[in-house]
Amino acid sequence: MLRRQRIIRIKDSRLRNVRLNLRKVLMNTFYDQEAALKALWLGAEGNEQLSLLRKLEQFRQNYRDSILVCSVCSKLDGDRIYIPRHKCWYCTDCLKKGVIPSLRKLRKESY
Ligand SMILES: [Zn+2]
Repeated sequence: MLRRQRIIRIKDSRLRNVRLNLRKVLMNTFYDQEAALKALWLGAEGNEQLSLLRKLEQFRQNYRDSILVCSVCSKLDGDRIYIPRHKCWYCTDCLKKGVIPSLRKLRKESY
C-alpha cells in the first residue's frame, strides 16, 4: 500500500494504449473470477453462503479501489492519482473536474 499521494502519468500514446490493453485484460480476468465466485455463492447455503458473500463483496471492493478503474467514474483508461487517506485511485479527469471534494487545494496547485 502506498503511503504518499502519487500521480501516475504516461504521455506516449503507444504506451497509453499498452496500459489500456493491460487494464482490459485484467478487467476481464476480474469479471471471470467474479462470475466463478458468484456461482459458488449461489450454490452454497447457510454460513458458507454468508462467508462467500463477504468474500464476493470484498473482491468487488478491491477491484473498485484498484488502479484499474477510477473510484468515482469507473473509467478504465487515463492517468491516475492515488490518495492514501482514501486508499484508492482516481482518474486525473475527475481531479480536474473537482469531483473529489477533499482535493480542491491539490487541484488548484497541480493544474
Ligand atoms: Zn474518474
